[in-house]
Amino acid sequence: MASPKKLLFIIIPTVFFIQEQFSIADNDWQLNDSSIEISDTEEIELGKQVDKYIRHQFYLENDPELNTAVSNITERIVSVSDRNKLPFTCTILQSNSINAFSAPGGYIYLTYGLLKFAKTEDEVACIIGHEIAHASLRHTSKLYCEIKEFLSHQGDRNTSNKSLLLLISRLEEFEQDADTVGVLYAFKSGFDPNGLPDFLERHLALAIREGIFGILGFGSSLAINTRINHLREYTSTLEKKR
Ligand SMILES: [Zn+2]
Repeated sequence: MASPKKLLFIIIPTVFFIQEQFSIADNDWQLNDSSIEISDTEEIELGKQVDKYIRHQFYLENDPELNTAVSNITERIVSVSDRNKLPFTCTILQSNSINAFSAPGGYIYLTYGLLKFAKTEDEVACIIGHEIAHASLRHTSKLYCEIKEFLSHQGDRNTSNKSLLLLISRLEEFEQDADTVGVLYAFKSGFDPNGLPDFLERHLALAIREGIFGILGFGSSLAINTRINHLREYTSTLEKKR
């Protein structure tokens, strides 16, 4: 059996800075160890377990207008995405932190704090696009493989450090890929792809003011700046296609 900590890693960690660590689930919330390559059915099943865990940890925001608005944006973006047969859902969590993340199988979560911080529908659409892109690019299966590798070297400090660095660089790579594909989906469904760099810039400024940074390297200001620059370059090529 996998430890509960493994389950936490399966959640693709966010567009943004992690401001609060998830608490560790109790023993009822474990996953069965499975092979590296996971099928759609297995991925959806894995997602269901993670979703149960999330619902165990957070209160859900049930404002009907907010949920309808978020669902409509999600549907629009899913329709132009590459794995649109996955049963995507976007759930709003009652948390004032500014965060978004996804679990396997099309489960997406946004915090109420993120929706409050977003200035436009385009910003929210790009963030949802980024999370949908993680699913389209099968980042979950890939991450699962990297984590297995990392955990298998935990006894050996040197190899373990190397594996951790590799894992962090993979996460940064996933973030950049999800950024590009996510804003492309937003663009294809009629939203402004600059919504993501706009949001990241304002959030970075806030994080610097408040001294908030992530627990791993992908939350550093340098990493966020690299993402913003990369996104600005990419969105300028999209604008030429209008
Ligand atoms: Zn992400």
